[in-house]
Amino acid sequence: MFNKAQIQQITQKLREELGADRVFTQVFHRLVYSRDWSPRDAKEAYLPDIVVRPFSIEEASKMVKICNEFHIPIVPYAGGTGMSGASVPIYGGISVDMKGFDEVKEVDEKNMTVTCGAGITILRLNEILAEYGLWFPHDPESKPASTVGSAVACNNDGTFAIKYGRTPDFLLNAVVVTGTGQILRIGHRKALVSSTGLKLLPLFIGSEGTLGLVCETTLRIYPLPKTRQVAGILFKSINEAMKALQRLLQAGLSVESAHINCGRRLNFYTHSFRLKHNRDPDIPEWADAVLFISFNGDEDVVNFSKNYALKVTKELSGEQLKEEAMVESWWNSKHTGSFIPFRQKWPDSQREKKFGAADLGLPVGRIEEGYKRYLEIAEKNGLEILGMCVYNEKANCISPSISFAVWVDDKDPESVQGWWNYIKEMSYMAVDLEGTMSTYWGDGQFRVGYNRYEHGESLDTMMQIKKIFDPNNIMNPGKKFDLKELEKIDFKIEKKPE
Ligand SMILES: Cc1cc2nc3c(=O)[nH]c(=O)nc-3n(C[C@H](O)[C@H](O)[C@H](O)COP(=O)(O)OP(=O)(O)OC[C@H]3O[C@@H](n4cnc5c(N)ncnc54)[C@H](O)[C@@H]3O)c2cc1C
Repeated sequence: MFNKAQIQQITQKLREELGADRVFTQVFHRLVYSRDWSPRDAKEAYLPDIVVRPFSIEEASKMVKICNEFHIPIVPYAGGTGMSGASVPIYGGISVDMKGFDEVKEVDEKNMTVTCGAGITILRLNEILAEYGLWFPHDPESKPASTVGSAVACNNDGTFAIKYGRTPDFLLNAVVVTGTGQILRIGHRKALVSSTGLKLLPLFIGSEGTLGLVCETTLRIYPLPKTRQVAGILFKSINEAMKALQRLLQAGLSVESAHINCGRRLNFYTHSFRLKHNRDPDIPEWADAVLFISFNGDEDVVNFSKNYALKVTKELSGEQLKEEAMVESWWNSKHTGSFIPFRQKWPDSQREKKFGAADLGLPVGRIEEGYKRYLEIAEKNGLEILGMCVYNEKANCISPSISFAVWVDDKDPESVQGWWNYIKEMSYMAVDLEGTMSTYWGDGQFRVGYNRYEHGESLDTMMQIKKIFDPNNIMNPGKKFDLKELEKIDFKIEKKPE
């Protein structure tokens, strides 16, 4: 899209304004930003033309203004652990490395908030908060690499959401640089609720870098839990496990985390157990679902909660998983920072094939139907089925965010194609079942073109909103919104390369 002379000109301008140590053009630098974790052909990579790493909001703003002059795309990049290609510079341009924004500016113990740069990893933020006995209870598995800013940009799922909620519940305030370079403070400072003005903060939650850069955030924090108890409970079916969880919430228990895995997904824990212990785990044959659950708080309350949960679930035909090593394996995979993604849980994965998951939101009553359709759709597209896990993502209620996983062989173009067909069909299925296409991936690169099936005419309104923040469509073009559709509403945009 941009020729060599233009890139040189833009580079020079960026270096003049920001300093040479903020702007990189060598291939080995650019290569780092050419892929994320989305399954794609092993040989496929999109190099940005330039990499910029700003360290202050003012620098970010200057950079965006320069990019507007040249109409060059800006693609925010943080940990690169996204699953939807959202941080991949598919039209070249500038990858902005957001990890320069890693400062913790204030830990406000009185008001229980932290103000930090959006590029800090979630793991690092929690290491710092732990020194104060505090905790940011958003806890994606990817936390050693993924950042606070992308938790906002992708509206991530977290292990502890059934107790603490997720991004909309934590994010109180943000400083953003819009697609025009304007610096805006949005939100309600340290207040937990507000009914004034129009709410701009939620627009940035899940915006995937298409409206602007999230540079600073103020987040709600909590005391570090004193104790915790974790358990696994086996059931005959997903449905029974869901009913049992519903019953625990009705009973008044404060559940810290609750993940329900189908029998196939349970196999991955048994598989890793076998590799480690050289024997089969003690699991009854009838078990076709497992509820992993945890409680935190004061010791007496936690002990009571776990025992009460075991008693209630037993009455509902649940049986406690006796193999402590499997419960530990689940816990390590979900929570401990020492977790090496996937290797620990599935030690032989990722080398031969890649984990891929459709991340659907379905109403509780449609989960079984969704499961059946998932098996059919995966099989039809020639993908090996890995199983389903139901996460719960709203405080104190059953709130399914479902990972329907498959293996993808990224060395086989047919398998990669099958994977993208699978995602498309699963997305349509979610909408047909009165749900949503995505609960933590977002639209990214791959749902563009068919996400209208979910949003209908609302997608046009969303594009109008984008136009307010990013009139030249330089913010992450080709993500969330189809370029041709944007052209129709008179966006000034560069033509995409053939
Ligand atoms: C092993 C593994 C485990 C995972 N576990 C979970 C999980 O438990 N829960 C979950 O929800 N997800 C999970 N994910 C998915 C992924 O980690 C999340 O989507 C995460 O938000 C991506 O963060 P990142 O910092 O790597 O962002 P990137 O992949 O670099 O970027 C993701 C998107 O955010 C945008 N972006 C990043 N920073 C900013 C910013 N400051 N301002 C504006 N836009 C920005 C990018 O442009 C892109 O659109 C997992 C992924 C892996 C590989």
